[in-house]
Amino acid sequence: MPELPEVETIRRALEPHLVGHRICSLAVWQPRLRYPVPPDLAGSVSGLHITALARRAKYLIFHLEGGTWLLVHLGMSGRLSLVEPGSGRTLHDHWEIRLSHQAVRLHDPRRFGFLLGGHGPPGLHPLLADLGPEPLEPDFGGPEWAQALRARAAPVKSLLIDGRLVAGVGNIYASEALFRAGINPRRPGRRIGTARALILGTAIRTVLEEALAEGGSTLRDYRHINGDPGGFRVHWQVYGRAGEACRACGETIRRIRIGQRSTFFCPCCQR
Ligand SMILES: [Zn+2]
Repeated sequence: MPELPEVETIRRALEPHLVGHRICSLAVWQPRLRYPVPPDLAGSVSGLHITALARRAKYLIFHLEGGTWLLVHLGMSGRLSLVEPGSGRTLHDHWEIRLSHQAVRLHDPRRFGFLLGGHGPPGLHPLLADLGPEPLEPDFGGPEWAQALRARAAPVKSLLIDGRLVAGVGNIYASEALFRAGINPRRPGRRIGTARALILGTAIRTVLEEALAEGGSTLRDYRHINGDPGGFRVHWQVYGRAGEACRACGETIRRIRIGQRSTFFCPCCQR
């Protein structure tokens, strides 16, 4: 599943190829995605210039002229590629935004991704309205954030992936950040001291920044832009390592379920 660093890597790679260019057309081959592609969407974006490509949590926002926007989510298996407009497509290619000389195409076998559109501030859209602060912003994780974390009774792991306390942190990076901060994923937010909450804020940003640096360096050819997280797996300390030895202390990494989601941690390093 494309996580925040992967989505940001895709955004950075696509940005120079899209911004400033005009959308000739939007071709939709499969409108039945997680949410149906609105039937009038193609007509409302044709002819408009792309003014910016932004990201909020794991959503990509194509800002178009006049306040129109497109909202893209890659779901579980979505990949975006730059292709020749209309070039040979496969069963799981669902839509393509055509510019004059190239196109951005979605390939998504599981169809949990989506393409929506709107007008006005995209942050007011119900999918974006309740999102918390962006963890890659330089001011993320300060005293105010620590206080918000400490006001909650739920297990800290659940709080991190919930989206309201911090935007776009998925299962992998929640486990990794908690390991980095030495905090047990089951610990209630309100039972984390201020100093440790601040350390966690820094750990979240650091783990995402490191993954981003890794992704950026593996992305050699813009024609192969995709959401494949393979390049990021190398540095995981706990995620997916149940039964293996902790790289810090040698204790066996455990896998537990918190809020139906697999959670990996070291019972010795994380308290
Ligand atoms: Zn350990």
